[in-house]
Order: sequence, then structure tokens, then C-alpha cells
Amino acid sequence: MLEAKLPNTLISKLQESEDDNDIGKELYQLICKLYPICRSITGNGVRETLKILKQHIPLEIHEVPTGTQVFDWTVPKEWNIKDAYIKKSTGEKIVDFANSNLHVVSYSLPIHKKLSLTELKAHLFTIPEDPDWIPYRTSYYKEAWGFCLSHKQYLELQDEEYEVYIDSSLEPGYLTYGEYLIPGERTDEVLISCHVCHPSLCNDNLSGIAIAVFLAKHISQIAPYYSYRFLFIPGTIGSISWLALNEEKVVNIKHGLVLTCLGDSGNLTYKKSRRGNAEIDDIVTYVLKKSAKDYKIIDFFPYGYDERQYCSPGFNLAVGCLMRSPHESFPEYHTSADNLNFVQPQYLADSFSKCMSALYILDNNKIYLNQNPKCEPQLGKRGLYKAVGGQKDSGLNKMAILWVLNLSDGHHTLLDIAQRSGISFDEIKYAADRLLEHDLLKINLSF
Ligand code: ZN
Repeated sequence: MLEAKLPNTLISKLQESEDDNDIGKELYQLICKLYPICRSITGNGVRETLKILKQHIPLEIHEVPTGTQVFDWTVPKEWNIKDAYIKKSTGEKIVDFANSNLHVVSYSLPIHKKLSLTELKAHLFTIPEDPDWIPYRTSYYKEAWGFCLSHKQYLELQDEEYEVYIDSSLEPGYLTYGEYLIPGERTDEVLISCHVCHPSLCNDNLSGIAIAVFLAKHISQIAPYYSYRFLFIPGTIGSISWLALNEEKVVNIKHGLVLTCLGDSGNLTYKKSRRGNAEIDDIVTYVLKKSAKDYKIIDFFPYGYDERQYCSPGFNLAVGCLMRSPHESFPEYHTSADNLNFVQPQYLADSFSKCMSALYILDNNKIYLNQNPKCEPQLGKRGLYKAVGGQKDSGLNKMAILWVLNLSDGHHTLLDIAQRSGISFDEIKYAADRLLEHDLLKINLSF
């Protein structure tokens, strides 16, 4: 019988292994390792990143050739960069890619020439309102070149001749992404997706990657109910490519989360799926509500991260986006200030634990059928009443037992019962497990 061999739950594993401090440190260490790499939507930076992730989880690396048609898009040429600088006429390097990979506009064409200050300025990007920070700029779909620098440094530029050098290549190659499928009891899948295309930026990019890796690590150690598919992909073109090349698999995706910006000190924000009333929407809302910290739930809008593609009308997947401070809402966004100080272990640990709680509920949020629906079963003769009276720490709550029996009519999930009764999900789940042991419940697989 299926109910007799329920899988280990995520939470029990979590409780065994989780020490917020330890997990926070581990997440932060992985971010530190990935931080120096110059990533873009294609190229060796993504490969190097995925290679490091492979030390943690058995990622499958996919290479999609340049020119591949993916719905209305075409996989672009592959971009790589070795070196870049701006030199003064004295030979002094004033902007050096070796100091920060944000100094070069991502996808810059190779160039080596001398320019006047006026000519150079047309290729420079700064943030006047935050004069110490270097902006992050890209030019994926328009061939161009450029440098990013602090506005402070920009104002110091003298009218003289400059040598600009970008040792990059933009050639036919591949779009690289990583994928890891953890098979569960069901072929129905939970999708966890994050982008791997930003260079040295911690919150927007690395926090989501680190949390996804550690979620995968934890889930791979248990026997989950659902199958879990993890995607480490370049933003936009990566999710479009995956959806276009794996359309037959999409039908299995029943729930999902895009993870991003999960390491800053802001409160958690959940952006609902386009459906707005998907199970994942209810579950994440419940977890945040129970957290006793401020949080924000926002409705879907067609901008942001890869939820834009997963929630496009032709797919309309139940995929939401979990973050702390939403993109563009914090001044450090897409600047050199989104660095190793901006993300901190305790915020990463908090985000990780919220993700685990949400996935635990999702994996256990079943619908049961009361096998003795005509009047209450006699609990005392099964030891279920005695347990309530005598064993203080048994965790068995009489009201939880009664609510589960009453609402297990084939229509209510355990979360529905927890919400209606005001009893915690854990207690409701514990009561359901005891009732299953006594054959008073049966899983309803038809929902
Ligand atoms: Zn971004």
C-alpha cells in the first residue's frame, strides 16, 4: 500500500542537518567561490561556474549550438573575454578588467585602438547618483563595445588620447546550461530555476544559485514524493531555450519557483505565479505568514526573471518567484555594490529555510480520504485517544486528529486543513500520518 511506505519527509532531514549558522556559512562560501568569475549568457564563465556546482551536485551540462532556433529567438554567438583595459597616454591603466569584470560591457566586441576623450565617452557608462559604484551593463543582441566605471573616475578623465583594448571573442559556439533531475515517487515535477549569467554580482544571481544548489543537495538525500528539476540557466534566452527544446517535459511540471536576490537584508517577497491561486502560491504565502517577520506578496507581472517565460500564456506554469528585495528596488542592483558585503550568511540561511519549509509542505500536501466517514471512528480503541492524554511529547493533537478526519473528504489538502483549523501544518501532518498507520485514511490520488 502506498500509504504504508510514505517517503521520508523533507523536514525531518532538515531538522537533523540544519543549523542556520552552518548552512548560512556554506551558502556564503559557495558565493565567495563563484564571485570572481566573469559570467555572461554564454561562454567559459558559465562553464566554470557549472563545474564548481558539479562538485556539490551531479549536474548534467547541456550545450546548445549558436543559431539554434528557440521559439521566436535564436541562440546567440558565444562570448568570451580574456583581458581589457583603458590606458592613458602615459601608459597607466586607468580601467582594468583584471580589477573588476564589471568594467567591460558584457558581450563587448574585441577592439584595440586609440581614441580622443570625446570618442571614448560615447562608450563609457557610469552611475552619477552613486558615484563610487561601477554599473553592470550588457549588449547581448546589439554588437557594440563599452566600459563601465565609477562616476568619480569618469569626472577625473583628462582631455587626452586613450588606448582601449578588449581581448574578447564573439563567435559561433554554444549556450551552456546545467540541469539536475531528482526522481521522486511521482513523475510530476517541481521546477527550481535560477539564472547563472551575471558576472561579479552576489544578490542578483549568486544567492539564487547557491540556495538552489543546497536545496538540490538536501532533496537528493531523501526520497521525495515529487520529482525535482533544477535548472541553472542564463536569464531569458536560457529558459526560452529549455522550454523550446524540452516542450514534451513541460507537462510534468506542476509547481515551481524561480530563485533570485535571496541574500540581502530585506524582508522576503513572493511574486505569485500568473495563475495567482496555484498551490505553490498558497504554500509560500502560508510559510511567510507563519514566519513572524514582515513579508510582501505581489501579484504576477510580465517583467522580472524567468517566471516571465514559464508564465507566458502558452505555458502558464504554476511558477512563482521568491526573493528578498525585488530587483530594481535596491540601489545596489546591477552595480559593483551588489558584492560580498551586500549578502550575508544569516539572510541566506533564512531564505534557504523558507524554501525548505515551502518544499516540505508542497511535498506533503496530500489529499486524503477518511476510511470511516460515517460518524467518528472510535479513536480510543486504536490508542489514538490514549496518546493524546498520556504522552505529552507525542506531538499528537486531538483537535488535529478530528480536523483531519473531518476534512479528509477527497477535496481538502493538509494545508487546507491546517488553515481552516488554525493548527500548524506539522501537527496536521503528524496526525494524518498516525491515522494512515491505523488505516483510517487513504491517499486520494485522483486529484
Ligand atoms: Zn539582473
